[in-house]
Amino acid sequence: MKVLVSACLLGLDCRYCGTGKYIHELKSLSKEHQFIPVCPEQLGGLPTPRNPVELREGRAVEQDGTDRTEQFSKGAAESLKLAEYFECKTAILKANSPSCGYGQIYDGTFNGKLKAGKGLTSELLHKKGIKIFTEESLDEFIAYAKRIG
Ligand code: SF4
Repeated sequence: MKVLVSACLLGLDCRYCGTGKYIHELKSLSKEHQFIPVCPEQLGGLPTPRNPVELREGRAVEQDGTDRTEQFSKGAAESLKLAEYFECKTAILKANSPSCGYGQIYDGTFNGKLKAGKGLTSELLHKKGIKIFTEESLDEFIAYAKRIG
């Protein structure tokens, strides 16, 4: 199966803080599935490292209110292009991120609290019918991949 994957989960140092978030279990899954790495925030033109961003009322903002929605939206659109080019119908994205989070994201207060929601890239991919998992739901991904063959 072709799977769009948040690049930080594969160990690329593309997070806002300049590190990755390597998930060891993905290494074995990459033997069975074709992973297409993507970092929406870099694709949107933001530097690494960069200031943290959270979503407030649908806008992507830094703690001081600097608006990064344009870059986040561009990153989402570029990620969708890659998903479509490689015909990915499934994605494994980084939990809680304002771009990649799915189900829960940081709540916009920069206090480490979560709220229900999706990141801007996850939202767009979801709207386009791409099935999304996170590194916290890999068991569900494995069961899903077995089910659809
Ligand atoms: S935008 Fe997504 S892929 Fe890039 S660092 Fe953030 S969570 Fe990882």
